[in-house]
Amino acid sequence: MALQTKKPKLKKCRVCPERFQPMNSMQVVCSVPCSIALAKKQLAKDKAEDEKRKRRDARARKQALLTLSDWVKKAQKAFNAYVRERDREHGCISCSKPANAIEALTGGYWDCGHYRSTGACPELRFEPLNAHKQCKQCNNQLSGNVVEYRINLINRIGAENLEWLEGPHEPKRYRIEDLKQIEAHFKALRKELIKGMGE
Ligand SMILES: [Zn+2]
Ligand SMILES: [Zn+2]
Repeated sequence: MALQTKKPKLKKCRVCPERFQPMNSMQVVCSVPCSIALAKKQLAKDKAEDEKRKRRDARARKQALLTLSDWVKKAQKAFNAYVRERDREHGCISCSKPANAIEALTGGYWDCGHYRSTGACPELRFEPLNAHKQCKQCNNQLSGNVVEYRINLINRIGAENLEWLEGPHEPKRYRIEDLKQIEAHFKALRKELIKGMGE
């Protein structure tokens, strides 16, 4: 190694590509203009963080006002969206209208139809075996079109699962915490499905 010269160590300016001789260890920029630029940058960063925090607080305040039934709706929405995504390639579970039917090409054509309705059997409202993509006509106008639903459901999930669905189920009491978890769970599952498709 060469002899150690007493050359002072240069520092890289945090703003521009310049290297400079710092007056003290606190100095991180080369010049006044760079110092102003750094201050501006910091200000913008603080402002952005402040806004982010405000948005987060507003969301928390809004969420605090939600009732249990609001959370059921939120979780149901996430579950239903997941089911429609899972069944993307399938047509209607009841009338077998294909996924690419002309009428179905417009948005909002498909529902998530519960075989045992959420009203009659709320304990299966978040059960994937109990819910399948269904056209709005079958779901709404034909009240679920359950006879046709059942015929196709046997093929889709098997007789054993169907028997289980049609059997008795323990009542479920969801707390808000449970519903938050259910919502997050199905949102994540749906995201994964969409990501898997892109690969
Ligand atoms: Zn500089
Ligand atoms: Zn249908």
